[in-house]
Amino acid sequence: MMNWEKNIRRVVPYTPGEQPKEKDIIKLNTNENPYPPSPSVQEAIAVLTNDRMRLYPDPDAEILVNAIAETYNLKPSRIFVGVGSDDVLSTAFMTFFNSETPILFPDVTYSFYDVWAEVYRIPYRTCPLDGDFRIVPEDYKTKNGGIIFPNPNAPTGVLESISVIEDIAASNPGSVVIIDEAYIDFGGESCLPLIDKYENLLVVQTFSKSRSMAGMRIGFAMGSEKLIKYMNDVKFSVNSYTMNAAAQLCGAAAVRDKAYFSETVNRIVATREDAKKRLKALGFEFPDSKSNFIFAKHESVPAEKIFRKLKERRIYVRRWNKPRISEYLRITIGTDSQMEALYKVLEELLNE
Ligand code: PMP
Repeated sequence: MMNWEKNIRRVVPYTPGEQPKEKDIIKLNTNENPYPPSPSVQEAIAVLTNDRMRLYPDPDAEILVNAIAETYNLKPSRIFVGVGSDDVLSTAFMTFFNSETPILFPDVTYSFYDVWAEVYRIPYRTCPLDGDFRIVPEDYKTKNGGIIFPNPNAPTGVLESISVIEDIAASNPGSVVIIDEAYIDFGGESCLPLIDKYENLLVVQTFSKSRSMAGMRIGFAMGSEKLIKYMNDVKFSVNSYTMNAAAQLCGAAAVRDKAYFSETVNRIVATREDAKKRLKALGFEFPDSKSNFIFAKHESVPAEKIFRKLKERRIYVRRWNKPRISEYLRITIGTDSQMEALYKVLEELLNE
Protein backbone atom coordinates (compact mmCIF):
# COMPACT_ATOMS: atom_id res chain seq x y z
CA MET A 1 0.00 0.00 0.00
CA MET A 2 1.31 3.47 -0.89
CA ASN A 3 1.87 5.89 1.98
CA TRP A 4 -0.89 8.24 0.92
CA GLU A 5 -3.39 5.40 1.03
CA LYS A 6 -2.90 4.77 4.75
CA ASN A 7 -5.18 7.59 5.84
CA ILE A 8 -7.96 7.09 3.35
CA ARG A 9 -11.53 6.86 4.63
CA ARG A 10 -12.17 3.35 3.41
CA VAL A 11 -15.73 2.11 3.04
CA VAL A 12 -17.62 -0.76 1.50
CA PRO A 13 -20.25 1.15 -0.48
CA TYR A 14 -23.98 0.48 -0.65
CA THR A 15 -24.99 -1.50 -3.73
CA PRO A 16 -28.07 0.01 -5.37
CA GLY A 17 -30.42 -2.21 -7.38
CA GLU A 18 -29.56 -2.64 -11.03
CA GLN A 19 -30.67 0.02 -13.51
CA PRO A 20 -30.38 -1.96 -16.76
CA LYS A 21 -29.91 0.02 -19.94
CA GLU A 22 -32.25 -2.13 -22.07
CA LYS A 23 -35.74 -0.83 -22.63
CA ASP A 24 -37.68 -4.04 -23.16
CA ILE A 25 -37.47 -5.37 -19.62
CA ILE A 26 -39.99 -5.63 -16.81
CA LYS A 27 -38.34 -3.79 -13.98
CA LEU A 28 -39.60 -4.93 -10.59
CA ASN A 29 -36.31 -4.61 -8.70
CA THR A 30 -36.02 -1.13 -7.17
CA ASN A 31 -39.49 -0.25 -5.87
CA GLU A 32 -40.10 2.47 -8.42
CA ASN A 33 -43.68 3.48 -9.18
CA PRO A 34 -44.87 2.08 -12.53
CA TYR A 35 -47.07 5.13 -13.17
CA PRO A 36 -45.86 8.56 -14.32
CA PRO A 37 -45.75 11.49 -11.91
CA SER A 38 -48.67 13.92 -11.70
CA PRO A 39 -49.27 15.75 -15.03
CA SER A 40 -48.66 18.99 -13.12
CA VAL A 41 -44.98 18.02 -12.89
CA GLN A 42 -44.54 18.26 -16.68
CA GLU A 43 -46.22 21.67 -16.58
CA ALA A 44 -43.85 22.81 -13.86
CA ILE A 45 -40.76 21.69 -15.74
CA ALA A 46 -41.98 23.37 -18.93
CA VAL A 47 -41.77 26.77 -17.25
CA LEU A 48 -38.27 26.29 -15.90
CA THR A 49 -36.81 29.62 -17.04
CA ASN A 50 -33.23 30.32 -18.09
CA ASP A 51 -32.83 32.41 -14.97
CA ARG A 52 -33.84 29.48 -12.80
CA MET A 53 -30.97 27.56 -14.36
CA ARG A 54 -28.47 30.42 -14.51
CA LEU A 55 -28.79 31.38 -10.85
CA TYR A 56 -28.10 29.21 -7.84
CA PRO A 57 -31.26 27.56 -6.55
CA ASP A 58 -32.96 28.74 -3.36
CA PRO A 59 -30.82 27.13 -0.63
CA ASP A 60 -33.91 26.92 1.61
CA ALA A 61 -36.02 25.29 -1.14
CA GLU A 62 -38.90 27.42 0.08
CA ILE A 63 -41.31 26.57 -2.75
CA LEU A 64 -41.02 22.89 -1.95
CA VAL A 65 -40.87 23.24 1.83
CA ASN A 66 -44.01 25.40 1.81
CA ALA A 67 -45.90 22.96 -0.41
CA ILE A 68 -44.99 20.06 1.90
CA ALA A 69 -45.86 22.18 4.95
CA GLU A 70 -49.34 22.89 3.56
CA THR A 71 -49.90 19.27 2.61
CA TYR A 72 -48.96 17.92 6.04
CA ASN A 73 -50.34 20.88 7.99
CA LEU A 74 -47.02 21.76 9.61
CA LYS A 75 -45.01 24.93 9.99
CA PRO A 76 -42.27 25.15 7.31
CA SER A 77 -39.71 25.29 10.13
CA ARG A 78 -40.57 21.65 10.88
CA ILE A 79 -39.58 20.38 7.44
CA PHE A 80 -36.16 19.51 6.04
CA VAL A 81 -35.77 18.62 2.35
CA GLY A 82 -32.98 16.83 0.55
CA VAL A 83 -31.84 14.99 -2.55
CA GLY A 84 -33.93 11.86 -2.04
CA SER A 85 -34.52 10.44 1.40
CA ASP A 86 -31.04 8.91 1.17
CA ASP A 87 -29.62 12.43 1.43
CA VAL A 88 -32.03 13.30 4.24
CA LEU A 89 -31.20 10.11 6.15
CA SER A 90 -27.49 10.57 5.61
CA THR A 91 -27.73 14.12 7.01
CA ALA A 92 -29.77 12.80 9.95
CA PHE A 93 -27.11 10.15 10.68
CA MET A 94 -24.41 12.82 10.62
CA THR A 95 -26.46 15.21 12.78
CA PHE A 96 -28.01 13.00 15.41
CA PHE A 97 -25.87 9.89 15.76
CA ASN A 98 -22.83 11.29 17.47
CA SER A 99 -22.49 9.13 20.56
CA GLU A 100 -20.04 6.44 21.58
CA THR A 101 -22.99 4.25 22.52
CA PRO A 102 -24.14 2.14 19.53
CA ILE A 103 -27.17 3.15 17.53
CA LEU A 104 -29.76 0.42 17.03
CA PHE A 105 -31.55 -0.86 13.93
CA PRO A 106 -33.00 -4.23 12.86
CA ASP A 107 -30.81 -7.03 11.47
CA VAL A 108 -33.01 -7.26 8.38
CA THR A 109 -33.54 -3.73 7.12
CA TYR A 110 -32.57 -1.08 4.59
CA SER A 111 -28.99 -1.94 3.72
CA PHE A 112 -27.83 1.68 3.62
CA TYR A 113 -27.99 2.10 7.42
CA ASP A 114 -24.85 0.12 8.21
CA VAL A 115 -23.05 1.84 5.31
CA TRP A 116 -23.76 5.32 6.71
CA ALA A 117 -22.80 4.11 10.19
CA GLU A 118 -19.48 2.87 8.77
CA VAL A 119 -18.70 5.96 6.71
CA TYR A 120 -19.48 8.34 9.60
CA ARG A 121 -17.76 6.05 12.14
CA ILE A 122 -20.94 5.62 14.17
CA PRO A 123 -20.95 2.51 16.39
CA TYR A 124 -24.04 0.35 15.76
CA ARG A 125 -25.72 -2.83 16.91
CA THR A 126 -28.45 -4.71 15.07
CA CYS A 127 -31.52 -6.12 16.83
CA PRO A 128 -32.84 -9.37 15.30
CA LEU A 129 -36.39 -9.25 13.99
CA ASP A 130 -38.52 -12.12 15.33
CA GLY A 131 -39.42 -15.20 13.26
CA ASP A 132 -42.23 -13.29 11.53
CA PHE A 133 -39.87 -10.40 10.66
CA ARG A 134 -41.43 -8.20 13.35
CA ILE A 135 -39.61 -5.67 15.49
CA VAL A 136 -39.18 -6.65 19.15
CA PRO A 137 -39.81 -3.34 20.98
CA GLU A 138 -38.01 -4.52 24.14
CA ASP A 139 -34.75 -4.66 22.16
CA TYR A 140 -34.92 -0.88 21.75
CA LYS A 141 -35.29 -0.18 25.46
CA THR A 142 -31.61 -0.37 26.28
CA LYS A 143 -29.02 2.39 26.35
CA ASN A 144 -28.36 3.53 22.79
CA GLY A 145 -26.93 6.35 20.71
CA GLY A 146 -30.02 6.58 18.51
CA ILE A 147 -32.60 4.39 16.79
CA ILE A 148 -33.64 4.03 13.16
CA PHE A 149 -35.88 1.67 11.24
CA PRO A 150 -38.21 1.84 8.26
CA ASN A 151 -41.96 1.47 8.75
CA PRO A 152 -43.07 -0.50 6.80
CA ASN A 153 -39.73 -2.23 7.04
CA ALA A 154 -37.68 -2.92 3.92
CA PRO A 155 -37.17 -5.36 2.33
CA THR A 156 -39.88 -7.23 4.26
CA GLY A 157 -42.84 -4.85 3.76
CA VAL A 158 -43.97 -5.51 7.35
CA LEU A 159 -45.80 -2.62 9.02
CA GLU A 160 -45.60 -1.93 12.75
CA SER A 161 -48.48 -0.15 14.50
CA ILE A 162 -48.35 3.42 15.78
CA SER A 163 -48.46 2.05 19.32
CA VAL A 164 -45.21 0.13 18.74
CA ILE A 165 -43.57 3.30 17.40
CA GLU A 166 -44.87 5.34 20.32
CA ASP A 167 -43.70 2.75 22.83
CA ILE A 168 -40.16 2.96 21.38
CA ALA A 169 -40.16 6.79 21.14
CA ALA A 170 -41.50 7.13 24.70
CA SER A 171 -38.86 4.75 26.04
CA ASN A 172 -36.01 6.74 24.48
CA PRO A 173 -36.13 10.37 25.60
CA GLY A 174 -32.32 10.33 25.60
CA SER A 175 -31.79 9.70 21.88
CA VAL A 176 -33.16 10.61 18.50
CA VAL A 177 -35.57 8.07 17.02
CA ILE A 178 -35.86 8.12 13.22
CA ILE A 179 -38.73 6.41 11.44
CA ASP A 180 -38.03 5.95 7.73
CA GLU A 181 -41.48 6.05 6.13
CA ALA A 182 -40.36 5.57 2.51
CA TYR A 183 -43.30 3.20 1.90
CA ILE A 184 -45.91 4.49 4.37
CA ASP A 185 -48.32 5.79 1.71
CA PHE A 186 -49.13 2.28 0.47
CA GLY A 187 -51.52 1.48 3.30
CA GLY A 188 -49.65 2.19 6.53
CA GLU A 189 -50.56 4.69 9.22
CA SER A 190 -47.92 7.39 9.50
CA CYS A 191 -46.53 8.15 12.94
CA LEU A 192 -46.40 11.84 11.94
CA PRO A 193 -48.92 12.93 14.64
CA LEU A 194 -46.42 11.74 17.27
CA ILE A 195 -43.90 14.46 16.37
CA ASP A 196 -46.02 16.93 18.37
CA LYS A 197 -45.54 14.79 21.45
CA TYR A 198 -41.93 13.64 21.01
CA GLU A 199 -39.38 16.34 20.29
CA ASN A 200 -36.79 13.64 19.50
CA LEU A 201 -38.86 11.82 16.85
CA LEU A 202 -37.95 12.38 13.19
CA VAL A 203 -40.17 11.08 10.37
CA VAL A 204 -38.56 10.72 6.93
CA GLN A 205 -40.49 10.31 3.68
CA THR A 206 -39.73 10.37 -0.05
CA PHE A 207 -41.17 11.35 -3.43
CA SER A 208 -39.46 8.33 -5.02
CA LYS A 209 -42.18 5.75 -4.46
CA SER A 210 -45.74 7.00 -3.90
CA ARG A 211 -45.13 10.16 -5.96
CA SER A 212 -43.36 8.43 -8.88
CA MET A 213 -40.31 10.70 -8.79
CA ALA A 214 -37.28 8.56 -7.98
CA GLY A 215 -35.37 10.24 -10.81
CA MET A 216 -35.88 13.73 -9.40
CA ARG A 217 -34.38 12.84 -6.02
CA ILE A 218 -36.66 14.46 -3.44
CA GLY A 219 -36.92 13.41 0.18
CA PHE A 220 -38.01 15.17 3.35
CA ALA A 221 -38.01 14.92 7.11
CA MET A 222 -40.60 16.19 9.57
CA GLY A 223 -40.00 16.77 13.25
CA SER A 224 -39.67 19.36 15.97
CA GLU A 225 -38.25 22.77 15.07
CA LYS A 226 -35.19 21.85 17.11
CA LEU A 227 -34.43 18.66 15.16
CA ILE A 228 -34.91 20.45 11.83
CA LYS A 229 -32.68 23.35 12.90
CA TYR A 230 -29.90 20.92 13.86
CA MET A 231 -30.17 19.17 10.49
CA ASN A 232 -30.08 22.47 8.61
CA ASP A 233 -26.98 23.52 10.53
CA VAL A 234 -25.20 20.38 9.33
CA LYS A 235 -26.56 20.67 5.79
CA PHE A 236 -25.38 24.28 5.49
CA SER A 237 -21.97 23.15 6.75
CA VAL A 238 -21.62 20.61 3.96
CA ASN A 239 -23.52 21.86 0.87
CA SER A 240 -26.02 24.76 0.80
CA TYR A 241 -27.40 23.96 -2.65
CA THR A 242 -28.45 20.37 -2.32
CA MET A 243 -31.71 20.64 -4.23
CA ASN A 244 -31.69 21.89 -7.80
CA ALA A 245 -34.29 24.34 -9.12
CA ALA A 246 -36.14 21.77 -11.24
CA ALA A 247 -36.56 19.36 -8.35
CA GLN A 248 -37.89 22.14 -6.11
CA LEU A 249 -40.50 23.22 -8.69
CA CYS A 250 -41.54 19.73 -9.70
CA GLY A 251 -41.74 18.50 -6.13
CA ALA A 252 -44.01 21.39 -5.16
CA ALA A 253 -46.29 20.66 -8.12
CA ALA A 254 -46.43 16.94 -7.33
CA VAL A 255 -47.25 17.25 -3.65
CA ARG A 256 -50.14 19.64 -4.41
CA ASP A 257 -51.88 17.12 -6.71
CA LYS A 258 -53.63 15.10 -4.04
CA ALA A 259 -56.22 13.52 -6.34
CA TYR A 260 -53.62 12.01 -8.66
CA PHE A 261 -51.58 10.80 -5.69
CA SER A 262 -54.55 8.91 -4.18
CA GLU A 263 -55.56 7.47 -7.53
CA THR A 264 -52.16 5.99 -8.36
CA VAL A 265 -51.46 4.79 -4.82
CA ASN A 266 -54.86 3.06 -4.73
CA ARG A 267 -54.12 1.38 -8.03
CA ILE A 268 -50.83 -0.01 -6.70
CA VAL A 269 -52.49 -1.20 -3.49
CA ALA A 270 -55.18 -3.02 -5.52
CA THR A 271 -52.51 -4.68 -7.71
CA ARG A 272 -50.55 -5.66 -4.59
CA GLU A 273 -53.56 -7.27 -2.95
CA ASP A 274 -54.20 -9.25 -6.13
CA ALA A 275 -50.49 -10.18 -6.28
CA LYS A 276 -50.76 -11.71 -2.81
CA LYS A 277 -53.41 -14.16 -4.08
CA ARG A 278 -51.61 -14.90 -7.32
CA LEU A 279 -48.20 -15.48 -5.70
CA LYS A 280 -49.72 -17.67 -3.00
CA ALA A 281 -51.37 -19.80 -5.68
CA LEU A 282 -47.94 -20.22 -7.29
CA GLY A 283 -46.49 -21.60 -4.05
CA PHE A 284 -44.93 -18.47 -2.58
CA GLU A 285 -45.14 -17.44 1.04
CA PHE A 286 -44.46 -13.95 2.36
CA PRO A 287 -45.03 -11.69 5.33
CA ASP A 288 -48.06 -9.45 4.79
CA SER A 289 -46.89 -6.37 2.91
CA LYS A 290 -48.12 -2.81 3.33
CA SER A 291 -45.61 -1.44 0.84
CA ASN A 292 -45.22 -1.41 -2.94
CA PHE A 293 -43.34 -4.71 -2.94
CA ILE A 294 -43.74 -8.28 -1.71
CA PHE A 295 -40.92 -10.21 -0.05
CA ALA A 296 -41.57 -13.75 -1.19
CA LYS A 297 -40.06 -17.18 -0.71
CA HIS A 298 -41.03 -20.21 -2.78
CA GLU A 299 -42.06 -23.41 -1.00
CA SER A 300 -39.67 -25.58 -3.04
CA VAL A 301 -37.66 -23.73 -5.68
CA PRO A 302 -34.51 -21.87 -4.53
CA ALA A 303 -34.68 -18.07 -4.80
CA GLU A 304 -31.39 -17.88 -6.66
CA LYS A 305 -32.78 -20.11 -9.42
CA ILE A 306 -36.01 -18.12 -9.78
CA PHE A 307 -34.04 -14.87 -9.76
CA ARG A 308 -31.72 -16.10 -12.52
CA LYS A 309 -34.48 -17.55 -14.68
CA LEU A 310 -36.60 -14.41 -14.38
CA LYS A 311 -33.64 -12.35 -15.48
CA GLU A 312 -33.13 -14.60 -18.50
CA ARG A 313 -36.75 -13.81 -19.36
CA ARG A 314 -36.01 -10.09 -18.88
CA ILE A 315 -37.88 -9.69 -15.61
CA TYR A 316 -35.79 -8.04 -12.89
CA VAL A 317 -36.55 -8.55 -9.19
CA ARG A 318 -34.21 -8.13 -6.21
CA ARG A 319 -32.43 -10.70 -4.07
CA TRP A 320 -29.83 -10.39 -1.31
CA ASN A 321 -27.37 -13.15 -0.57
CA LYS A 322 -27.48 -12.41 3.14
CA PRO A 323 -28.25 -14.38 6.31
CA ARG A 324 -31.96 -15.01 6.94
CA ILE A 325 -33.14 -13.59 3.61
CA SER A 326 -31.23 -15.38 0.86
CA GLU A 327 -34.29 -17.50 -0.02
CA TYR A 328 -36.47 -14.43 -0.57
CA LEU A 329 -37.15 -12.31 -3.64
CA ARG A 330 -38.33 -8.76 -3.31
CA ILE A 331 -40.83 -8.13 -6.06
CA THR A 332 -41.88 -4.54 -6.73
CA ILE A 333 -45.55 -4.07 -7.62
CA GLY A 334 -45.78 -3.01 -11.26
CA THR A 335 -48.77 -2.33 -13.49
CA ASP A 336 -51.40 -5.06 -13.81
CA SER A 337 -50.03 -6.07 -17.20
CA GLN A 338 -46.43 -6.26 -15.92
CA MET A 339 -47.64 -8.44 -13.07
CA GLU A 340 -49.58 -10.70 -15.45
CA ALA A 341 -46.38 -11.17 -17.45
CA LEU A 342 -44.55 -12.05 -14.22
CA TYR A 343 -47.15 -14.67 -13.17
CA LYS A 344 -47.06 -16.23 -16.63
CA VAL A 345 -43.27 -16.58 -16.62
CA LEU A 346 -43.25 -17.83 -13.01
CA GLU A 347 -45.84 -20.48 -13.87
CA GLU A 348 -43.67 -21.67 -16.74
CA LEU A 349 -40.41 -21.78 -14.88
CA LEU A 350 -41.82 -23.31 -11.71
CA ASN A 351 -43.23 -26.16 -13.82
CA GLU A 352 -39.98 -26.81 -15.68
N1 PMP B 1 -35.48 4.19 2.81
C1 PMP B 1 -35.83 2.97 2.39
C2 PMP B 1 -36.34 2.00 3.38
C3 PMP B 1 -35.70 2.63 1.03
O1 PMP B 1 -36.02 1.41 0.61
C4 PMP B 1 -35.23 3.60 0.12
C5 PMP B 1 -35.11 3.27 -1.35
N2 PMP B 1 -33.93 2.68 -1.74
C6 PMP B 1 -34.86 4.85 0.62
C7 PMP B 1 -35.01 5.11 1.97
C8 PMP B 1 -34.25 5.91 -0.24
O2 PMP B 1 -35.08 6.36 -1.24
P1 PMP B 1 -34.84 7.75 -1.95
O3 PMP B 1 -33.43 8.20 -1.68
O4 PMP B 1 -35.10 7.48 -3.38
O5 PMP B 1 -35.83 8.69 -1.34
